[in-house]
Amino acid sequence: MDAPAHPPAAAGARRRVVLLGATGSIGGSALRVIARHRDRLELVGIAAGSNWRRLSEIAREHAVRSVALCDPAAAAEATASGHFPAGTRILPGLAGLTELASMPGADVVLVAVVGTAGLEPALAAIASGKDLALASKEILVLAGRFVMEAARRSGTRILPIDSEHNAVFQCIEGHPGAALSRVILTASGGAFRDWPLERLAHATPSDALKHPNWSMGPKITVDSATLANKGLELMEAQWLFDLRPSQCAAVIHTQSLVHCLVEFTDGSMLAQLAPSSMTFPIQHALLYPGRAPGVEPPVDFTRTVNLDFRPVDEARFPMLRLAREAMEAAGVAPAVFNAANEVAVGAFLGGRIPFLAIHAVVAQSLARNANFEPPGLSAVLEVDSEVRRTALEDVARFK
Ligand code: NAD
Ligand code: MG
Repeated sequence: MDAPAHPPAAAGARRRVVLLGATGSIGGSALRVIARHRDRLELVGIAAGSNWRRLSEIAREHAVRSVALCDPAAAAEATASGHFPAGTRILPGLAGLTELASMPGADVVLVAVVGTAGLEPALAAIASGKDLALASKEILVLAGRFVMEAARRSGTRILPIDSEHNAVFQCIEGHPGAALSRVILTASGGAFRDWPLERLAHATPSDALKHPNWSMGPKITVDSATLANKGLELMEAQWLFDLRPSQCAAVIHTQSLVHCLVEFTDGSMLAQLAPSSMTFPIQHALLYPGRAPGVEPPVDFTRTVNLDFRPVDEARFPMLRLAREAMEAAGVAPAVFNAANEVAVGAFLGGRIPFLAIHAVVAQSLARNANFEPPGLSAVLEVDSEVRRTALEDVARFK
């Protein structure tokens, strides 16, 4: 990764963190890391969609004076509430998030907003030369080429938070790119890895939300049940580490202790292990290149620890096949996959379509949209909103 365009905070100074998506699952883990390392990290800005009550608690606990709420009505309510410390700036709308992401006095912006709503703030963080700690994988799937080009131009460091990508980042450090042969991301297999296939037609949102290993937000938990999550992650890896699609692979690893396997040209592999908690990758990214004791204990080898790996069965997980095909097709196909998936998962969680219809909606969107190489970001964003519109129509037909 390139060096940052501006020098980091002076030695001994705390790294000033802006946290977008502070009320979510990643947000909660990031707050634990920041609270544990107050000598090295300082929270200076927080944002969420609409949950201003939780934001006000975080603001008080961490003495944060800059806050953004994407929902303008929630921002107005927050301002009128008197729950925030005196002198708090409450910025409304996407513009508010974007302003927070480029605020003077911040060193690193952690983007953990579900879906692609964090794209503009992420680009603002990049343009203002801050480090970008990135959890929102959908941003790279939608606009990886443009985000990575912008980061190269401004010399911004992108620090991966997604556990597999953070693991790859750790494994390849110090190795020349040419020595890298393949990156293999591990997948737990999600809630349905052992279900009989014929039961999947009747899987409910509460079934899909019972993840065997990880506690995460609802969208990514459903993505784990379909393995769309691993598909999105293959594309994320492609952009972060400048890989060809054929260099990105997935394997089922039921214990979620090994997060990646990096294979070098000589056949040797390096793996990274940590318990299945996001505090590990978040701490790595926020303290990088430093290390410190973690929030939680490491893997305990005083007990028997099994590490199982098995190939992914694409008959069980056809969303992974679709994602791989979209990645190989390139152009706007990944953006189509992502937008249709977001709509379909929302509809499934809302009880409007059955589980297996997620695949049907995404496959229909990919078949309907002729692929092309987008000349610029605005062309991709147009495709994104058009696919969301037509996918919603597809969803409505399931009624
Ligand atoms: P979550 O649903 O728990 O939280 C989402 C957060 O985004 C909340 O703070 C919410 O207020 C905020 N938000 C939603 N819409 C917004 C908008 N329009 N503007 C501003 N904020 C908005 O989600 P999560 O599980 O924390 O996941 C967040 C991102 O991190 C996703 O992209 C996910 O793929 C990625 N990720 C999550 C995990 C995990 O363990 N949860 C692991 C790897 C990657
Ligand atoms: Mg992951």
